[in-house]
Amino acid sequence: VDEQPISGTSSSRLAPIEEVKPTSKQIKRVAAHSHVKGLGIDPDTQEPLDEAAGFVGQKNARYAASIIVDMIRMKSMAGRAVLIAGPPATGKTAIALAMSQELGDGVPFVPIVASEVFSSEVKKTEVLMRSFRRAIGLRVKETKDVYEGEVTELSPIETADSSGLGKTISHLVLSLKTAKGSKQLKLDPSIYDSILKQRVEVGDVIYIEANSGVVKRVGRCDVYASEFDLEADEFVPMPKGDVRKSKDVVQNVSLHDLDLANARPQGRQGDVSNIVSQLMAPKKTEVTDRLRSEINKVVDEYIESGVAELMPGVLFIDEVHMLDVECFTYLYRALESPMAPVVVFATNRGTTTVRGLDIKAAHGIPPEMLDRLMIIPTMKYNEPDIRKILVYRAEAENVQFDEPSFDLLSQVGTEKSLRYALQLIAPVRLCAQCAGREVIQLEDVQRCVDLFMDRSESLKRRRKPKNVFPK
Ligand code: ATP
Repeated sequence: VDEQPISGTSSSRLAPIEEVKPTSKQIKRVAAHSHVKGLGIDPDTQEPLDEAAGFVGQKNARYAASIIVDMIRMKSMAGRAVLIAGPPATGKTAIALAMSQELGDGVPFVPIVASEVFSSEVKKTEVLMRSFRRAIGLRVKETKDVYEGEVTELSPIETADSSGLGKTISHLVLSLKTAKGSKQLKLDPSIYDSILKQRVEVGDVIYIEANSGVVKRVGRCDVYASEFDLEADEFVPMPKGDVRKSKDVVQNVSLHDLDLANARPQGRQGDVSNIVSQLMAPKKTEVTDRLRSEINKVVDEYIESGVAELMPGVLFIDEVHMLDVECFTYLYRALESPMAPVVVFATNRGTTTVRGLDIKAAHGIPPEMLDRLMIIPTMKYNEPDIRKILVYRAEAENVQFDEPSFDLLSQVGTEKSLRYALQLIAPVRLCAQCAGREVIQLEDVQRCVDLFMDRSESLKRRRKPKNVFPK
C-alpha cells in the first residue's frame, strides 16, 4: 500500500487554489476598456498604428508605453515605475491595461485608485502590499499522476469516530490489476465518495488522477475524463499502458491567491460542516507577514525547479497625488523587490502639495520618487478621435445610434468632455428602451443632455450659489 493516501487535494506544499475573483470595482474598471486589446503597435515597423487593437490616436504615449514593455521584457525596469500624466479621459488607464496585455496572456492587471488605500479597517501599507501581490502572477505547471487499472478489490477501512460510538470510513483500499501487475492504493474518503457516485465495481477499468482525485469509469472503455460531468463522447482517450502516466496542467494564479488559499482554514471539499464553518467564519482571513514569507520561499523553490514561472503584471495606481509620504516610502522599498510588478501611476494634476510633506511638487509626488519615474504624457483628443472612441464604446456596449443622434453625442464629447459623452451612453439607451426603441434617436440623446449636467455646467451653477443653492 502506498505510504501517503492519494488525497482529493493537491499534493504540493501549498494549499489548492480556488480562483480568487477580482473585486466588483475592479471588474467595472476593466469593463470600461473591453474594446482595448493591446497598444496597437505595427509588428513589422514597431511604430504605433493610427487605429489598432481598439486604440485611436495618442500615438506618442502608446509608442512610449511599448518601449517600456520592451524594457520590462529585458528586465531593465527594476526599481523604477511609470507615471502617465494627462487630462481626464485621455486613455491613461487604457494604456496601462494595454501594457499588461502586451506582456502576455494571463498577465494580471490590477487597477486601484490611490484613495482606496486609506481605510479605517486595514493599514494603508497592507492595502498596497495586497495590491502588489495581486499583480504578481505565477504560471504553475503541475504534473498530475494518473493511475490506470482494473479494479480487483474495493474495501472501505472503518475506524471508530471521535465519540467512540460510531464508525467512520477513514480510507479505502483499492487494488488495481495493471499492465505491470497488481497495485494497491490507499485512497482518501473523498475519492471513495466519487467512486460510489460513479458506481465503480470490481472488474471495471478506471483511471485516477492523483492530485485532483478525479475518478471516472465508463463501462470497460479505455477512456479518461478529468471532469465528472463530461459526456461520454467528450472524453479524452488515453493510451493504455503504464501504471502511472502524467499530464501537465497549467494554472495561472497570483501571489495574493496563494496567500488567501493558505490562510483559509483547510478542509475536505464538499464537507458540509466545513462549508457551514466557512460561511460562519469572518470574511476577512488573516494573512500574516510570516505566511507571506513562507509562500515566497515555496514560490522561489518552484521557480528554481522549473515548476512555476513568474509573470509580473501591472499594478495601476490612479490619482497618485492622493498617496501620502508613508505610502511612497513603502513603494520605494517594494519596487526594489525581485518579485515586484510593473507599477504604473497616473494623475491629471500638475503641481500640487505632497500629502504628509508640506511641500509642493510636480504631480504631488515626492522628488525622490519622481526621480525613479519614466513619465509618459497623454494629450487631449481632437474631434475625429473622440468620435472614433465613442464608436468603439457604443459597439462594446452593444448600443445602436442613428446618424443624427450619434452626431449629437460626438458634439457633446467635443464641447463638454469625452468622459461625459461616454457616461451618457447608458442613460440614453434606457431612454430609448422606455420609448420602445432599439436604435437610439436624436430625441433620446437630447433628453439626457437636458436632464443631466456635465462638470463645467455644474461648476458654473456653484459659482452663483445665491441663485441656486439654499443657505
Ligand atoms: P482619468 O484621468 O479620469 O482616470 P483616463 O485618462 O484614465 O481618465 P481612460 O479611463 O483610460 O482615461 O479613458 C476613458 C474611456 O475612453 C475608456 O473607456 C477608454 O478605454 C477610452 N479611451 C481613452 N482613450 C482611448 C483611445 N485612445 N482609444 C480608444 N479608447 C480610448
